Amino acid sequence: MVRDFGFYMPTEVLFGKGVVDRVGEVVVRYGKRALIVTGKHSARASGALARVEASLSEAGVASILFDRVTPNPSIEQVLEGAGYAREAEADLIVAIGGGSPMDAGKAMAIFATNEGSARDYFGVKTYARPPLPIFAIPTTAGTGSEVTEYAILTDLQGKDKKSLASPSIFPKVALADPELTCSMSPEITVDTGIDALTHAAESYLANRSTALSDALALESMRIIRGSLKRAWEDGGDVDARGDMLYGSMLAGMAIAQTGTTMLHAMGYPLTVFHGISHGRANGILLPYVLAFDRKAAPEKVDRILEIFGGTLHDLREFEEEMGLSTDLSEALPDPDTLDEMTDHVMRAKNLANNPRPVVRADVEAIWQRALCRSLG
Ligand code: NAP
Ligand code: ZN
Repeated sequence: MVRDFGFYMPTEVLFGKGVVDRVGEVVVRYGKRALIVTGKHSARASGALARVEASLSEAGVASILFDRVTPNPSIEQVLEGAGYAREAEADLIVAIGGGSPMDAGKAMAIFATNEGSARDYFGVKTYARPPLPIFAIPTTAGTGSEVTEYAILTDLQGKDKKSLASPSIFPKVALADPELTCSMSPEITVDTGIDALTHAAESYLANRSTALSDALALESMRIIRGSLKRAWEDGGDVDARGDMLYGSMLAGMAIAQTGTTMLHAMGYPLTVFHGISHGRANGILLPYVLAFDRKAAPEKVDRILEIFGGTLHDLREFEEEMGLSTDLSEALPDPDTLDEMTDHVMRAKNLANNPRPVVRADVEAIWQRALCRSLG
């Protein structure tokens, strides 16, 4: 029987080749002055930025550019961008890029209209003033941030990743154009694609999962299983790119309802302490966390594994065939920081969403298994 659930996903989605050129006609319904938020290179190199600027200009929307978002954007960086938005009197935000520029754009939308210390906004769902409307144009197929209410920022002082989460930062419109993802290197394709896979797997296992989020998560994993390798082998395969973008968006819709679990909680310190990319960090840990969760949710873990051939080894092979080693000792030659990293994991809110209760010794055991590449 279907258990009671709620579902809220207010983002309008435009999906397809060439939709990026429609951004002007879309945003003009909401405002006249756009702050474009993007990263240093890829939006320019792929031509996405020029296409957005041309479309805005054609629709009579003025634009200014903030193009200094780095991967894993910091609180300081988004405050700087918010200052830009205020100075230019921007009335909307167009974010182009992977999760980093999209999340940075969401945070800038909050801080452009709201005062006070940024740290007071974590864990708060409503703000004194509504954030600027956000329009998201993904160029990776990974985070699904174009359809989530999350903005993940790096707290450089606390050496932590922190989430802003509010229904008011769901993008108004997501313009998902598969062609924009074709310029990703094979490595970025796999790192971001595996991030999407972990979103779907975690959402499916989450204590907060529902019948509808499960449907999205299972379909997402099935699609990613069928398309990630093709996109990795041939970056120009637009059909595979489209499938991946769709699969990552479904995973985003699923985590927007359920949140993530201990896997993301353990992935964050690998990024913050050791600079391992977000998706790769999660991908390394995925088989070991599934092995752990299997004791509490055997049927659901087996259903995930079926998609990849039936066993944890099959899932690991799927990742490693594309060059994502699940041997943590290769990514982390010096495990001295594990204790401090475990402190951070134990403070993460998403632990409470894990299907199997987590104590410190469990996290330590998972690090050790990942260091020895042992599936137990
Ligand atoms: P990213 O950090 O946005 O980008 C990683 C790299 O990929 C950057 O060097 C970027 O270059 C490059 N890149 C992006 N698009 C490209 C393209 N089409 N062609 C070539 N290179 C491209 O990566 P991401 O994995 O998408 O985002 C990760 C961030 O999202 C993390 O901070 C993570 O915590 C967060 N996240 C958010 C959510 C959410 O729901 N909001 C969910 C999961 C993760 P440029 O810098 O030049 O653009
Ligand atoms: Zn993620």
